[in-house]
Amino acid sequence: MKESYDLLVIGGGPGGALAARTAATAGYSVLLIEKRPAIGAPVRCAEGIGKEALAEFIKPDERWISAEVTGAELVAPDGVSMKLASEMAGSKVGYILDRKFFDRELVWQAAEAGADVMVKTRASAPIITGGAVKGAVIEYCGTRKKIHADLTIAADGVESKFARWCGIDTTVPVREIMSSAQYLMTDIDIDPNTTVFYLGNKVAPEGYLWIFPKGERSANVGIGISGKKSGPGNRAKDYLDRFVADTFPSGKTIECIVGGVPVCRPLESTVMDGLMVVGDAARVVDPMTGGGIYNAMFTGRLAAQVGAAAMTDGGCTREALMPYEERWRKSPMGKTIERNWHIKEKFITLSDAKLNAIIHSAKAIDLKDFSTISLLKEIIKRNPLLLADLAGLMASIG
Ligand SMILES: Cc1cc2nc3c(=O)[nH]c(=O)nc-3n(C[C@H](O)[C@H](O)[C@H](O)COP(=O)(O)OP(=O)(O)OC[C@H]3O[C@@H](n4cnc5c(N)ncnc54)[C@H](O)[C@@H]3O)c2cc1C
Repeated sequence: MKESYDLLVIGGGPGGALAARTAATAGYSVLLIEKRPAIGAPVRCAEGIGKEALAEFIKPDERWISAEVTGAELVAPDGVSMKLASEMAGSKVGYILDRKFFDRELVWQAAEAGADVMVKTRASAPIITGGAVKGAVIEYCGTRKKIHADLTIAADGVESKFARWCGIDTTVPVREIMSSAQYLMTDIDIDPNTTVFYLGNKVAPEGYLWIFPKGERSANVGIGISGKKSGPGNRAKDYLDRFVADTFPSGKTIECIVGGVPVCRPLESTVMDGLMVVGDAARVVDPMTGGGIYNAMFTGRLAAQVGAAAMTDGGCTREALMPYEERWRKSPMGKTIERNWHIKEKFITLSDAKLNAIIHSAKAIDLKDFSTISLLKEIIKRNPLLLADLAGLMASIG
């Protein structure tokens, strides 16, 4: 193993893999390290992604696609449901991945492009020289070693520590951590082509519960609730257990995961001298849905593109890396995060009665194009009483 690279990538999720693949393809020397013993496992994700979003980065392959989704269903607190067919379900239509293989494929592609990869290897401290990040101390098999790099990309996910060690404020308020639990269930009656979302304060306070099909009779059945609603007897897993006992009493659980999703605004700063932060580590998750696979890949690739130009043009100063931050904030992804953060902040204040009213009225809407904005506008037209609750929201989305 070399001791010095152009780029050190910390974390082997989709963000880190895209950063490594992009820089290695452009001819830079890259080391990607992953603290877990295997890329992609254990999975901490419901594995849903829009078809168009995925196609920006990789050709779909049945080896890592578990199911194709052609519709979505929203279930109100009172049980009334609204179905969105494929032609209007927008970004909800897509694939349910098998991330054990998907993440592995992305890292394989980075390796094939020339990146070195080390698993069971953890970054334990930054190397900082003259205020600039110049690599990291890494630990593997009980050994510590210094890896020097012109640029380091922190892609270390929701539990990210690296950026904080370098002096960036990465705090997420407890109420903005979506506390999640998920079962991979089999032997259950589902529609294998439809994702289902349950709303309501009894089912999933300040969050939602999902069923994402993984096959004819199996699915990821999971839940995210606000961290501040979690407590003894009312943890995410408790809500999930109650739902599963009612809905799938004879289903079998073959995998169980718990995890957190940051649904706050992104970090105020995602670059400093020698360092860029991407994906969940940068908190670029969609605050409405908790989806972050696309955003991680988008920021990972963009960081490597901007970082590569900086390395070629004379150095990875904060100023040279700033185009990364400016470009992701101005991108459709950045704008969606900002807009959806405002929508989320309003929606979590709605009572079950109001959520019922929204879904009842939306059920009757004949939209050719389903988008969050067109749906909201139509809902408000039909529910003048909701106007007061949603007025600020409409102002924020224009
Ligand atoms: C329950 C749940 C359901 C979700 N469902 C969806 C969904 O359906 N669709 C969607 O788009 N998103 C979903 N997400 C979010 C999605 O999983 C993340 O947004 C995505 O994985 C972020 O990618 P990443 O590369 O930034 O981070 P990760 O995929 O988290 O990768 C970070 C990697 O860094 C490694 N690491 C951490 N610290 C170190 C260190 N010090 N040294 C070396 N390695 C380190 C970690 O082990 C990890 O492998 C879900 C999340 C959860 C918890």
